[in-house]
Amino acid sequence: MPYCCVCDQTVPAWLPHPHAEQRSPLMRLLDTVGSDLSMYLCPSCHCSDRDRHLWLYMNAAGITAQLPGATVLHMAPEPHLERLIGACQPAHYIRGDLHPTQAHHERINLEALPFDDNSLDLVICNHILEHVYHPNKALSEIHRALKPGGIVVAQTPYAPCLKHTFETKTVPDAQTAHLLFGQADHVRLFGDDIVDYFHAAGLQGDLLKHEALLPKVLPADYGCNAREPFFVFWKPAAATAQSQADKTPHAEPQHA
Ligand SMILES: [Zn+2]
Repeated sequence: MPYCCVCDQTVPAWLPHPHAEQRSPLMRLLDTVGSDLSMYLCPSCHCSDRDRHLWLYMNAAGITAQLPGATVLHMAPEPHLERLIGACQPAHYIRGDLHPTQAHHERINLEALPFDDNSLDLVICNHILEHVYHPNKALSEIHRALKPGGIVVAQTPYAPCLKHTFETKTVPDAQTAHLLFGQADHVRLFGDDIVDYFHAAGLQGDLLKHEALLPKVLPADYGCNAREPFFVFWKPAAATAQSQADKTPHAEPQHA
């Protein structure tokens, strides 16, 4: 019986994404990793496969256990995750959005974070890096604002078969963006080099595979996409941060 970890109950079956058939043919061809469109919605709480997977990942990685008392920045917070994270009682739970639609969300630009250096324990910015014009700047800002040892979780769609991330020289119209990047407001499609962006900003970490972190979680039971890895990175302790910076002083990700 499928079990929803967000509303904590068994459910009859997962519901498909209502617009699954509108997926870009290029995304199909490239077998882009993102949502599982066939096991998308929980019929009870209407959370998505991405919500469920992230909550499972954050629990398995011990991140939720560190939430009480932490200073957390959650960009464009997913409503279900916002509720679950808030219930863990972080000391400061800052909910940010470039275009906030709720009164308790602050207007925050990921490329120019309004926080002191070394001030955040955790940054959650899912499905944002494919929207920002300068992901290097955004990740550099996250690195600056995180405390040493602080963590960033940044789920992002990507195409593992692409050697390099690709962008267009100018922002394409909505129809072209949907075809090339999978959504009308995406400005790039990340490739297998996505990890290089994080490392170039001085962050450590990698994409952790489902089977490594959640070996007992059957995707069909929990309604999540086993191909979606956990994007988890951290700011190294000070000495290591310097050595990482020495290694990649001006590292820029390669573009096709
Ligand atoms: Zn649910």
